[in-house]
Amino acid sequence: MGTKKSAQIFKKAVKIIPGGVNSPVRAFKAVGGGPLFISKAKGSKIYDADGNEYIDYIGSWGPMILGHAHPKVTAALKKALDKGTSYGAPTELEVILAELTLKAFPSMDMVRFASSGTEATMSAIRLARAYTKRDGIIKFEGCYHGHGDSLLVKAGSGMATLGVPDSPGVPADLAKHTFTATYNDLDSVKAVFEKAPEAVACIIVEGAPGNMGVVLPKEGFMEGLKGLCKKYGALLIMDEVMSGFRLCYGGAQKVYNIDPDLTCLGKVIGGGLPVGAFGGKKAIMEMISPSGPVYQAGTLSGNPIAMTAGIETLKLLQGKGLYDKLFKSTETLCGGIAEIAKRRGVPAQTAVAGSMFTVFFSERPVTNWPDAKACDTARFGRYFTKMLKNGIYLPPSQFEAVFVGLAHSKDDIAKTLEAADKSFKGI
Ligand SMILES: *Cc1c(COP(=O)(O)O)cnc(C)c1O
Repeated sequence: MGTKKSAQIFKKAVKIIPGGVNSPVRAFKAVGGGPLFISKAKGSKIYDADGNEYIDYIGSWGPMILGHAHPKVTAALKKALDKGTSYGAPTELEVILAELTLKAFPSMDMVRFASSGTEATMSAIRLARAYTKRDGIIKFEGCYHGHGDSLLVKAGSGMATLGVPDSPGVPADLAKHTFTATYNDLDSVKAVFEKAPEAVACIIVEGAPGNMGVVLPKEGFMEGLKGLCKKYGALLIMDEVMSGFRLCYGGAQKVYNIDPDLTCLGKVIGGGLPVGAFGGKKAIMEMISPSGPVYQAGTLSGNPIAMTAGIETLKLLQGKGLYDKLFKSTETLCGGIAEIAKRRGVPAQTAVAGSMFTVFFSERPVTNWPDAKACDTARFGRYFTKMLKNGIYLPPSQFEAVFVGLAHSKDDIAKTLEAADKSFKGI
C-alpha cells in the first residue's frame, strides 16, 4: 500500500500553498507523516491519490453524516446545477432550509445563512455585542468557534494567559475583550461576571465540545451558564456547528434542554457544501441588516447548490430510526475500542456524544482542556499511524472527535475494531 502519489502532490503543494493544505489539521502535523491527497469518496470509504481505500471517520469533519456521495443528495445536486450555480438574489430554497432549521431548533425564531461556521460565530458575536451594547465575551479554554479574531483566544491550543491572542495578527486590544473560563467549572464563569458584571455581552459555548476531543458537560453546567447569563444580562450563544445534527436532530440544546438566545450551525446543515447559519430570538435577529443596523452579508450566502445539499441532507436525516442506528454504531465502536485498550493494558478514557466520540490516551477522566492537554499525544500519534496502515482514516489529532456516519456498516465497524486490536498492541 504505497502513498507515492500523495507524497508527490504534497511536494508540489507545499511550494504554492502554505503548509500544502488549506486548513491546518489536514497536514497531519500532530501525528507525523505527510497528508493523504484524496481523489474520491463513496459511502463510508475514502480513496487516496494512489487508489488506497480507507474507512473514513473524519467525514469532512462532521458534515458527511449520511456518508459520501449519497445517491439522493447527488441526484438533487445534479438537477440543481443545471439551473445555474449562483444568482446573488434570494431563492425559495433558502426559505425551505430556514423552515427546516427552525423546526429542528425551536429556540430559533429567525435564521440567517452564511458560508461557514466561522462566519456564523463571528456574526453571532457581533450581534450579541450590538444587542447588549457591551464588548466582552466569555469563551471556554479548548472550545473552538472558528477563526474569527475575537475567538482565537485559548481555542484549543491553550498557549495563552487571560485575554492574550493565540495567533499573531490578532490585536491584543481586541483579545482583551475575550475572557476565558474553564469548561465544566461554573465558578470560573462566575468569577468573570463578578469582576466585570456590566462588560459581558455573551457566553459562547460548544453544544457538546468536540474540538478538544469529545468532552461532555457535567450535569447542571449548561443550565448554570443560562442562569448566569440571565442574572447578568448577557446572551447565551450555543455554537452547535459541530453538535447541531450530530447529538441528535435538534442538537445539544435538545439533549440538555437549554433555550439559548442564539445558536450557530454549520457542517451537517450544508450536507458537504459550504453553509453556516446563525439564528435565535426575533428581537435579537431583527437587528441584523437590512431589517436592523448590524451589518452582515455574503456574496455566496444562501447559495442554491449549498442550500440544495442542506435540504436533502436534513430531509433524509428525518428518516425513522436513523439516529438510533447511528448511536448504536457509535456505542459499539467506542465501547469496543475501550475494551481493547483495557485488554491491551493501555490507559484510555472514552467519551461519546451522539455520533461522535474520542479515545483519550489518559489515566484520568477528561472534563476540560487542562485534562485533555495532559493526554499522551505521542501514543495517539502511534495509534493513528497504525490505524491508517490498517485502512482506517481517523482524525489526525488527539483533540478531535471521531465522526461515525450512517454509511458505516456492521462490517466496517468490525473491521475497525480488528484494526484497533492490532494497533493497540505494543503502543
Ligand atoms: C468547525 C467548527 C466551527 C467553524 O466552522 P468552519 O465552517 O470551519 O468555519 C465553529 N464552531 C465549531 C464548534 C466547529 O466545530
